[in-house]
Amino acid sequence: MIKTLKAFFDFCDKTESKKLKTAMILGVFKALFSGMKIGAIAVIVQGFLDKNMTMQNIWMALGIMLVSLAGQFFISLKTTMLQCEAGYRTCANKRIEIAEHLRYVPMGFFNQNSLGNITNVTTNTMEGLADIATRVVMITTQGMLTTAVIILFIFAFDVRIAFIALAGILVYMICYSLMQQFTKGVAPFKHKADENVVAMVIEFVQGIVEVKNYNMIEKSDKRLQDAITNKRLGDTKLEFAVVPIVTIQNVVTKVTSALMCLASLKFYFAGTMTLFNCIMMLIASFMVYESLDMMSSFGALMRNINISITKANEILNIESMDIDGADMTPASYDIELKNVEFAYENKKIIDGVSLKIPQKTTAAIVGPSGGGKSTLCNLMARFWDVDGGEVLLGGKNVKDYSFDSLMKNFSFVFQSVYLFEDTIANNIRFGEPEASMDRVIEAAKQARCHDFIMELPDGYETIIGEGGASLSGGEKQRISIARAIMKDSPIIILDEATANVDPENEAELTAAIEALTREKTIIMIAHRLKTVQHADQIFVINDGRIAQQGTHEQLVAVDGIYKNFIDSRKEAVSWKVAKS
Ligand code: ADP
Repeated sequence: MIKTLKAFFDFCDKTESKKLKTAMILGVFKALFSGMKIGAIAVIVQGFLDKNMTMQNIWMALGIMLVSLAGQFFISLKTTMLQCEAGYRTCANKRIEIAEHLRYVPMGFFNQNSLGNITNVTTNTMEGLADIATRVVMITTQGMLTTAVIILFIFAFDVRIAFIALAGILVYMICYSLMQQFTKGVAPFKHKADENVVAMVIEFVQGIVEVKNYNMIEKSDKRLQDAITNKRLGDTKLEFAVVPIVTIQNVVTKVTSALMCLASLKFYFAGTMTLFNCIMMLIASFMVYESLDMMSSFGALMRNINISITKANEILNIESMDIDGADMTPASYDIELKNVEFAYENKKIIDGVSLKIPQKTTAAIVGPSGGGKSTLCNLMARFWDVDGGEVLLGGKNVKDYSFDSLMKNFSFVFQSVYLFEDTIANNIRFGEPEASMDRVIEAAKQARCHDFIMELPDGYETIIGEGGASLSGGEKQRISIARAIMKDSPIIILDEATANVDPENEAELTAAIEALTREKTIIMIAHRLKTVQHADQIFVINDGRIAQQGTHEQLVAVDGIYKNFIDSRKEAVSWKVAKS
């Protein structure tokens, strides 16, 4: 338990942990104020025993009681506020820290961790830490403190009874530690089940079109139902592991209280305890375990705190890709790959690729689907780290740049565009939130989106759905180009950008791309012959290697994948179907 409490305080940042510690210190005073009740009772009992109960006694007892209640009330108010503030601030700060950190973790992390896992940590887990963990920690620490104060009172009256009370606490703590053992195996199961429900719901909602399309409602629904059933199982398993122990703990505290009463009476009748002390001990025996009983019911959640902290720290401890990078501007925007090797987990994708793309030239990367074109582009912008060889920008290894100063130089235009649930203007100024409306409109005009935006009900202030659901594919793509125009980076990577666009949209899109790429270093994963043939260099990538390279004229003049492609598909639409 101490370990968990320490882990929790370490997890909160310094300011918030200070607030929690202040709340704990105030908890000591609260316990003392609570203990004052015994003093008030003592005054009354003494008055009765001395048969000398005066109004003065009654006022004194009432006064002590009032001070005790007022003290507890004000301290509770303060500690609850401190605890809420610390909990919610810690949660907010950690969420921001996680979001910020995720920008710098290698993409491999997203490969190995589902969206459900990441979402669960940043939502449920953090919520649990903010809300439940702070309460559990405070109730536990205050429970222990209050019990300790009352035991000190008992010691002041009768050491023998104090030892019985301590023995009860010892057995209680053994049960507590047993509870932690019993929940050890169940808590991770529950956590995994929580994670799965989130993952399944996300998948179900995201894939709802496919689910309907293939009439898979029942099957998909079954996976979701299984996840929900597992969650129920996780929750009940945890409760079932805990309930018997909590019951035993309650029995232990009640039996110890009864033993304290019996012993007090026995000592009184044996003449070794005064009547006053005996009455005081009888009263104390009912008070001593009150706070511990409350603490028991939160025991299982202690284990959850541990797991939650571990899960959040797992993300925060992933080594950032940015550790050695410096903020710098490249000397030029030439890109060079030297003998680059790369594998996703164990599957080798890029196998000794070397190439040079001088600044302000256009390189087309072509080849059969699955050959490694996108992977190669991702390596250039260091979305992944190479396993061998090096990637240079302006003559310097991309690893020497800080992540932000590297990313500044690249803009990606993907075939599948992600737009955020926000206004069109904010989607365009995504990379530069402070940009003026004039600049947004200028970028939109260059990207050929101004006209269709103006036809929308609220123009630039129209909110688009998550993922850009309310716009056509071509429109979404042009907005993403406006976003890239706004970023104005010197290197543009176009990944299959016009692959699925209808002819009507194509002219607009081509004009938008033309505006974006003017005077830039362009790397395009090419799909249409008419864009490829004007490139300064063409790299044909097959099975992770450069199969051919040259200009269109040079490549059509020799036998090879490129020529085969041209010959077999004069009217080719896409390289994606051209595995040769
Ligand atoms: P291309 O762009 O030429 O179609 P890709 O670079 O997208 O090829 O993919 C090359 C290979 O790498 C494919 O076999 C693909 O399945 C695999 N691959 C692509 N992205 C990932 C990823 N994130 N994790 C694991 N494998 C991947």
